Amino acid sequence: MNTASISGLVLAGGRGTRMGSVDKGLQPFGGSTMVAHVLERLRPQVASVAINANQNLDAYGSFGVPVWPDDTPGFAGPLAGLEAGLRRCATPYLLTAPCDSPFLPADLAERLLAGLQSAGADLALAVTEENGLRQPHPVFCLVKADKAEVLSNYLAAGGRRMDGWYPQIKVTEVLFEDADAFRNINTRDELQSLDPARPLKLAEVVSCLSAYDPDALPVRDAQKIIRDFVAPVRATEQVALRAALGRVLAADIVSPINVPAHDNSAMDGYALRGSDLSDAAEVRLRVIDTVYAGRTSGAVPAAGECVRIMTGGVMPAGCDSVVPQEFVREENGVVVMAPGTIRAGDNRRFAGEDLKAGSAALRRGKVIRPADLGLLASLGVAEVPVQRRLRVAFFSTGDELRSIGQPLDEGCVYDSNRYTIYGMLQRLGCDIIDMGVVRDDPAALEAALREACENADAIITSGGVSVGAADYTKQIMARLGDVTFWKIGMRPGRPLAFGRIASGGKSAFLFGLPGNPVAVMVSFYFFAREALLRMMGAEAPLELLKARSVAAIRKKPGRTEYQRGLLSRGADGQPEVKITGSQGSGILRSMSEANCMVVLHDEQGSVQAGEMVDVLMFEGLV
Ligand code: AMP
Ligand code: MG
Repeated sequence: MNTASISGLVLAGGRGTRMGSVDKGLQPFGGSTMVAHVLERLRPQVASVAINANQNLDAYGSFGVPVWPDDTPGFAGPLAGLEAGLRRCATPYLLTAPCDSPFLPADLAERLLAGLQSAGADLALAVTEENGLRQPHPVFCLVKADKAEVLSNYLAAGGRRMDGWYPQIKVTEVLFEDADAFRNINTRDELQSLDPARPLKLAEVVSCLSAYDPDALPVRDAQKIIRDFVAPVRATEQVALRAALGRVLAADIVSPINVPAHDNSAMDGYALRGSDLSDAAEVRLRVIDTVYAGRTSGAVPAAGECVRIMTGGVMPAGCDSVVPQEFVREENGVVVMAPGTIRAGDNRRFAGEDLKAGSAALRRGKVIRPADLGLLASLGVAEVPVQRRLRVAFFSTGDELRSIGQPLDEGCVYDSNRYTIYGMLQRLGCDIIDMGVVRDDPAALEAALREACENADAIITSGGVSVGAADYTKQIMARLGDVTFWKIGMRPGRPLAFGRIASGGKSAFLFGLPGNPVAVMVSFYFFAREALLRMMGAEAPLELLKARSVAAIRKKPGRTEYQRGLLSRGADGQPEVKITGSQGSGILRSMSEANCMVVLHDEQGSVQAGEMVDVLMFEGLV
């Protein structure tokens, strides 16, 4: 409910002594600040909100609401904040809530108002009952704005107690059931323990699954755990419009204008009054003026008159329809059209038809594409708030790997994963840190993981997560943090390490992908990609399409199989897919020849020729 008669005031005027003399409201909480949470909960309940603060006024001002310092000097307590609010209140009532109460009730305003009105009171305050004891919450109160003077007199006389001025007004109490909603946060420890943004433990996430076996984990369970575990990176930046291409929008963009700004013509033709049209007789209209695109005409056609108009020209006053020029003939300044050529309202674009002023043009979380750049430009937006780029460090592990430029010793292979991973990360728009090849050596692996962790938001490794003898990767990963090792019911790419590691006071999410070149790509696309996008603040689920399988495909139920496919248009014009050559998990060529992956789900068995299957297109994958 939005109570139009109530203004909201967040009390943030204290010194924050118990917090170690930091400004309480500005403390980080739940991914933003405490005061931001209070504002968010208060805003839908009231006509407008303001903040009472006595320090860091600019920081409070950045929330886009008025900031009012105390009028009574010397940090005189919450009552001085209430006074400042009452004096500036433009509505009959003022509602206050402290800046350290991020859980305040969603019906605070509504219920305090109902209580105040039914008691005929001047002030209603919230109370809760704990173990049979009534607990008043005097800083959660609704007060009649016309009591400002009574309060000022009390303060001027040296009064400071919240309830000290109650004898001079009529006060009523409103009982709330949920005592936790009024909980305020006083110390840094409380802040830490109550913070919903506190990192989760993998065990907590995993416990939400009904059955969990790390050695036989279905793809969709692994995807769910990863989705629930990763958290978005909060930092944002402001970039010039063109630089926003491919970036993730960090805030809703509200249109400051109507687009188009005026009713205008969708055609080159003649603007006319719908009332002049006829289905029975030929219509003849005298042309009194011409409007070019982007121009207006002062002409106001009377009955029997019209205005020549170009596409985009502003509709003249009184005109509601445009007849395209190819449907009429013009004779000596008169337009002639056959009966029933158009209907009233045809070919007129309305102001705000594309976007109304005040409506959300684009939502946060959107990955900005060319059309979005155009849309933003049409609003006159020059700079765009975007999420900061995600930093991702990656390296390959294995003594057999050689980098390009090195001689290929007996039994060695060139490191190709670093290049596919580079390509996939680049396409996602990440800032990438390529750490090269790391030997199968515990000290080297630990040093690489620590360095990656200290410099990146996420780490991607390849190789070393299966059961090979020289694979130390798992031990080191486990030692550095909260990491789990899965055997996933899928092919290719069964082993996967996932979690978060910490080093030097920093932490990073970790994806330990398998070593086989195709398994790396499949694991990246089906596990890492969505997680990275989520960290980037974007929502971009994988869109699977349906296509007809040209040939039969053998498949065992009980695991998910990803086959490399070639999607094309069949003889009947419908999409069809065929598998590209050998599907061995090390064979990159068939991956390179493919333009999609065929996804054969867990429960699915062999596919008959002509059956529909799910496919994931490579192009269009962000
Ligand atoms: P691993 O998971 O470390 O046992 O590696 C599995 C297979 O993938 C082995 O045949 C490796 O040689 C191969 N492999 C691992 N990493 C890479 C890489 N970066 N480039 C190419 N092949 C790799
Ligand atoms: Mg290896």
